[in-house]
Amino acid sequence: MFSLMANCCSWFKRWREPVRKVTLVMVGLDNAGKTATAKGIQGEYPEDVAPTVGFSKIDLRQGKFEVTIFDLGGGKRIRGIWKNYYAESYGVIFVVDSSDEERMEETKETMSEVLRHPRISGKPILVLANKQDKEGALGEADVIECLSLEKLVNEHKCLCQIEPCSAVLGYGKKIDKSIKKGLYWLLHIIARDFDALNERIQRDTTEQRALEEQEKRERAERVRKLREEREQREREQAEVNGTSSLAELDPEPIIVNPFQPIASVILENERKLEKEKTRQNMEKDSDGGPLKHKVEHEQIETQSQISDSSQKNNELGIVENYKEALTQQLENEDETDQRSSESDNSKKKTKKLRMKRSHRVEPVNTDESAPKSPTPPPPPPPVGWGTPKVTRLPKLEPLGETRHNDFYGKPLPPLAVRQRPNSDAHDVIS
Ligand code: GDP
Repeated sequence: MFSLMANCCSWFKRWREPVRKVTLVMVGLDNAGKTATAKGIQGEYPEDVAPTVGFSKIDLRQGKFEVTIFDLGGGKRIRGIWKNYYAESYGVIFVVDSSDEERMEETKETMSEVLRHPRISGKPILVLANKQDKEGALGEADVIECLSLEKLVNEHKCLCQIEPCSAVLGYGKKIDKSIKKGLYWLLHIIARDFDALNERIQRDTTEQRALEEQEKRERAERVRKLREEREQREREQAEVNGTSSLAELDPEPIIVNPFQPIASVILENERKLEKEKTRQNMEKDSDGGPLKHKVEHEQIETQSQISDSSQKNNELGIVENYKEALTQQLENEDETDQRSSESDNSKKKTKKLRMKRSHRVEPVNTDESAPKSPTPPPPPPPVGWGTPKVTRLPKLEPLGETRHNDFYGKPLPPLAVRQRPNSDAHDVIS
């Protein structure tokens, strides 16, 4: 009866105990079987797991414990991150690949480094001598010997338990009993010394956070100094070269709020580009002096004006000369017409019209039969610079009366004009 009451009391006491949050770190060399073990504990199939690159975290409930296990990658280059998790750890799970004798020395050094750390020394450590299913795997005693485990744990005052196991034998409830046993042992030790451990962890965590903040500030300061030094070097270099420094040449980075309207972003960017252009112009001014720049600018402007006007004059000259040549050509044609078909009245009419168009009066007493000295062909329109001649443009004749000669000098039929089907206002030439 008395024992029954004692059992009830202890059960009630345990029931009233608050849930304890415990963090553990799982470390060991890469390929030791950490992830397989973690997955097995969590209840996932542990085979074919990919080696942990950074870290993974698993959460599980074990009695009154809410356990978080950090499975940290074991590669040589990332072992440095382990220490960031030491402060908040209540205990350590160290996984050893018992089948890899060649790496036992490396395992020993790594374990020594872990236990030596001030934030780990004195905390409980569970060593899982994994891969016992593999042929030639070292037994418990051999692993203890290879790692000089007794010496190590005594040196660093760590309570230790070693469990030979195989992470791939089962998972969840069927997980290797040794792993389960080892985990119970660890949590039991933690529960026993929980208050003392908890106090230490709170203190260590606060210190660690302060240290991290300090490191962050120092890092930022180092970066700032490095940037300043670099900019100074660039300025000096630019002064030596007589050019703007790279930082100055670089346009201001365009940092915008991604959620603002696109129109305002465009406006802002345009404004920045404008500013940059003005700044560059000012730089140029300062290079050669504002006056020099102004004179140069004016010279360039004048030159461009001259070249513009000369180009215009040139074009105008070409056009005018061409018009003149065309008029002469028409005159020649007229004279040829006159010679070849004096009797043709319609041609005469045309000629008169053309002459009228070119503002000339037909001579009254002209002997039309008399041979005329042929007018020399008009010179081709000049190319390049030319003095523009002021020549009156011949009046345009009505389209219906336009006549031209063919290649042999015979008159071509007049151009036909037809009405646009849906308009009587405009004519089109067919
Ligand atoms: P980690 O790098 O320490 O996380 O190692 P992993 O858990 O990724 O395991 C590395 C390899 O060893 C994987 O192919 C696992 O399947 C295998 N492995 C893990 N534990 C055992 C074990 O107990 N026995 C055997 N035979 N293989 C295992």
